[in-house]
Amino acid sequence: MNYFVRSRGDETSDALCQRIRNYLTEFGLTESEEEPEIVISVGGDGTLLHAFHGYLHRLEETSFVGIHTGHLGFYADWKPEEVERLVIHIAKTPFQVVEYPLLEVVVRHLDAEEPDRYLALNECTVKTMEGSLVSNIEIKGEIFETFRGDGLCISTPSGSTAYNKALGGAILHPSLESMQVAEMASINNRIYRTIGSPLVLPQHHTCLLKPLNNVEMQLTVDHYSMVDRNIQSIQCRVAEEKIRFARFRPFPFWQRVKESFIGD
Ligand code: NAD
Repeated sequence: MNYFVRSRGDETSDALCQRIRNYLTEFGLTESEEEPEIVISVGGDGTLLHAFHGYLHRLEETSFVGIHTGHLGFYADWKPEEVERLVIHIAKTPFQVVEYPLLEVVVRHLDAEEPDRYLALNECTVKTMEGSLVSNIEIKGEIFETFRGDGLCISTPSGSTAYNKALGGAILHPSLESMQVAEMASINNRIYRTIGSPLVLPQHHTCLLKPLNNVEMQLTVDHYSMVDRNIQSIQCRVAEEKIRFARFRPFPFWQRVKESFIGD
């Protein structure tokens, strides 16, 4: 079996990656950056987000597992001291795989025929570079509201514990094939009105943002940030593709939520 170890790039993570390589080579596994069946991310959640975006072209053939060299992460949930146990599990393939939903984002421009398509593991956010975001929101082809405010965050269930949580969004179990739309500081008064609550949409329901002011927008997809202009629409829905996590032990989602946010 081919594997690849991806480091955050700090000294501790690099050293741990080398130990993992040595162990896996002894077990007869081959390192392949191009065609790994398992990607071991060593660092934090950000490292796993980077690793995921590096293998968008072969998500069906790739599973991910994360080791944290800082604090416990959502994706990086193995401790450095558990690494021997982990490599033995990896060497004794086949391993169990769990699949989590992703978000598909399609951005159409006023001055381009071909849309841009992105996949997010955590979320996509939309803000403007100046002033408020003013955007119609259509759900399943029907106009829902006109949003005015700082921006919008559309997250996956596994991203619901990230930016979405800071915006007061609900935490969703990743077995729910859904996406969540959360507002960033909406303007609500006698003239402007938005729903105010985060919305959870099922698979096949699209959320279409149609900006009403043609200003420069800041779009983020996970850790990537870009400035875009002449945006006609941003269409979000649950993607056909999924991320595969290699599972070697039970670590229930709600336990992870408790350990990350409440403590022991
Ligand atoms: P970063 O270094 O700023 O890390 C942000 C924090 O988010 C880290 O503590 C990381 O462990 C945590 N995180 C990432 N994914 C998570 C998840 N699914 N559940 C719980 N916590 C998670 O940036 P990064 O490491 O490159 O990560 C990018 C992510 O940062 C974005 O996808 C976004 O979710 C998050 N973010 C959060 C806020 C906020 O909470 N106000 C603001 C901007 C970005």
